[in-house]
Amino acid sequence: MCSGRIDLAFVLRAFSNGMDGVFIGGCRLNECNYITQGNYDALNMVLLCRRIMEHIGLNPERLRIEFMSSGEGILLTEVINDFGKKVKELGPLGKGEEIQEEELKSKLEEVTKLVPYIKIVEREKLASRLENEEEYDGLFTSEEVDKLFTEVVSYHIDPDKCQACMICFRKCPAEAIIGGKNKIHVIDQEKCIKCGTCLEACPPRFGAVKEISGEPVPPPIPEEERTIVRKSKEK
Ligand code: SF4
Ligand code: SF4
Repeated sequence: MCSGRIDLAFVLRAFSNGMDGVFIGGCRLNECNYITQGNYDALNMVLLCRRIMEHIGLNPERLRIEFMSSGEGILLTEVINDFGKKVKELGPLGKGEEIQEEELKSKLEEVTKLVPYIKIVEREKLASRLENEEEYDGLFTSEEVDKLFTEVVSYHIDPDKCQACMICFRKCPAEAIIGGKNKIHVIDQEKCIKCGTCLEACPPRFGAVKEISGEPVPPPIPEEERTIVRKSKEK
């Protein structure tokens, strides 16, 4: 119903499924039917996605957004014809950019996995409403998006500090924390969407959750070493 509903993950999924181009049509800016002005959200998302496409070596012209009213059938036809022509010129996805199929698949998978993280880091810009096209040109820069991927953060629970209070386990939105009563908690890095909730939730007196960037995440402690033996029970 609204272009604002189109998520970054939807566009990446289309490319992962082999689409050579993605076109998004939205209502004219400032003519949104909803107070949310969702077409601005769609525009911001497209601008970010185009930078991400550049980052992984895809031609950003494979993704286009245009705004028009439902009465502008001729304009829609012209725009779609033009976009179709452009996509044909670019050739099949990946081949046109000389990226091997497997490499492209793994790059798209990697980016898709980071979508929640990207949306959290870029949430303020994704919600912005700028005044003119020039401002939109610089909303997301290549350097910024490259940095987003090189400085990606991970979260780790320090086994020496975790008190198994289970707060992070209950709050994790991705069920990525392996918990248990009196068990040192462990983050499943494959499931973690890097939202940072566990870092905020872990009580400061424990301070067990660490944010890691630019270095490998320590391996999880073995299952047999996860049980916490409380001092009162040792006696
Ligand atoms: S950052 Fe923490 S709370 Fe967020 S998904 Fe990862 S483990 Fe769960
Ligand atoms: S909130 Fe902190 S202390 Fe509590 S289980 Fe999670 S990591 Fe351990």
